[in-house]
Amino acid sequence: MLSRFQIRLPSRKLFSRHTFYRVQRTYATQTPELYDVVCVGGGPAGLSLVTALRALSATSKLKIALVEGQDLCRNRLENVPNTEYSNRCSSLTPASLHFLKEIGAWNYINASRIQPYHSMEVWDGVSDSRISFDWASVGMPAAKTPGEDSNIIAYMTENTNLTTALLKRLEEVGGISIMDNTRVSNIELGQDTDTLDLRSWPILTLSNGRSIAARLLIGSDGAQSPVRNFAGIESRGWDYNRHGLVATLRLAAPSSSINPQTQLRTAYQRFLPTGPIALLPLPGPYATLVWSTLPSHATHLKSLSPPDFLASVNAAFRLSPVDIAYLHSIPSGQTSELAWRLQHTRVDAARVPPEVEGVQEGSVASFPLRMRHAATYVGERVALVGDAAHTVHPLAGQGLNQGQGDVAALVGVIERAVREGADIGAGMALEAYDAERWAQNNMLMGVVDKLHKLYSVESGPVVGLRSLGLSAVDKMGWLKGFLMQSAAGVR
Ligand SMILES: Cc1cc2nc3c(=O)[nH]c(=O)nc-3n(C[C@H](O)[C@H](O)[C@H](O)COP(=O)(O)OP(=O)(O)OC[C@H]3O[C@@H](n4cnc5c(N)ncnc54)[C@H](O)[C@@H]3O)c2cc1C
Repeated sequence: MLSRFQIRLPSRKLFSRHTFYRVQRTYATQTPELYDVVCVGGGPAGLSLVTALRALSATSKLKIALVEGQDLCRNRLENVPNTEYSNRCSSLTPASLHFLKEIGAWNYINASRIQPYHSMEVWDGVSDSRISFDWASVGMPAAKTPGEDSNIIAYMTENTNLTTALLKRLEEVGGISIMDNTRVSNIELGQDTDTLDLRSWPILTLSNGRSIAARLLIGSDGAQSPVRNFAGIESRGWDYNRHGLVATLRLAAPSSSINPQTQLRTAYQRFLPTGPIALLPLPGPYATLVWSTLPSHATHLKSLSPPDFLASVNAAFRLSPVDIAYLHSIPSGQTSELAWRLQHTRVDAARVPPEVEGVQEGSVASFPLRMRHAATYVGERVALVGDAAHTVHPLAGQGLNQGQGDVAALVGVIERAVREGADIGAGMALEAYDAERWAQNNMLMGVVDKLHKLYSVESGPVVGLRSLGLSAVDKMGWLKGFLMQSAAGVR
């Protein structure tokens, strides 16, 4: 039902690609409220972007709105004991941390819930060839963040710890119109009015009935991005037919022969033919699991009792792919199967993570994995950041970090335009952002995609070649250093 202030316009097929999005073809006759920047999406990328714009003196006078469909309180971490951790965690690179410090958000992070890690053990589940990463062994300067321990590879952080810090910093700087619990129900181009020519301006109709116009509309609205659809920007890629299974786990104490500091502060990743399994450290005896596997395996794992689920995780780091496949095929009894099979399997305890002995209730969940890359990050008065621009397989832990890199680059471009008195929404100004980020992200996404495909092969010459490659890289300090610096976001 249209309100008396609205008239129906003919369809312009702006949202035709995604039927999930119920488009209300209306146009508010009231004059829209004008903003310099409207950012749709209050996830890590959107919150960083508006915080950075307010924190920089050149851009602090811009009139900014943040529109988020959900209640932003859901992104807040309040009164959670340090024995419970969210299952959505990310490894923040030194480059992302540096940016968060620059915009003043890191001061608000709950440091007791962050876990830096100093080394990484990555190995091939089929050939068992392995590569170990730590800054000390590569003879290269670490990707140092001022004021931080120089040997850190990355910082494990709950996504909610990060968004809470950003929201607190936003409260401190103030001055942003935050519209949460508010969905964008339509975006279309404006009209030539008596006072302003808005024909190139995106006009957003919000679920609360408000109409707002954006000199620059930023899509930080995730993988399904309504903003990207509005701009008609194609997003290409494929589904991996894999799910990322996540869980918060409690580790058993490492055996006394192993330095507990080393083993508990190491990230472990084993490539299995169905996808990689990773165990990343959280504070104390906790760890977060990211297990990329077939959708049917993910469903099966979610259905297991906690002891059988834990046995399956321990098995995935210790048993052969054939044994692991067998464990996936039985409805229950993984605990006794693992105990029996371990008697016949040689495991070097120093090279695998400590056993997992507990799983946090309600923390086992899974997400479909896909690779998508927008054909461009910019259009006239539109820019995309974060998952709206690219979605990447989580095996390299780069998605959120790429989003922080996008934000830093886009804010730099907007700052330059403001300083030069240029129109911040003009395609010409925004092109520099696309040039800086698209190719860089594309290269990283290509590497991650190839790694997934390379390690999905179970037999044949590829297995021999990849194990040779892994062993060779492990022996080349400079190449390892190069890979670590690239992953840390400092190259
Ligand atoms: C299993 C798994 C493990 C991962 N591990 C890592 C890791 O270790 N390191 C790493 O860097 N990355 C990791 N990632 C990726 C990372 O989680 C994402 O890249 C990141 O969260 C994306 O943030 P974003 O702000 O771009 O998008 P999102 O967090 O998706 O935010 C988009 C926001 O837009 C809002 N929105 C959407 N449509 C509308 C609308 N119509 N109106 C209003 N609001 C709207 C949504 O409500 C949402 O809040 C992982 C991902 C997965 C699946």
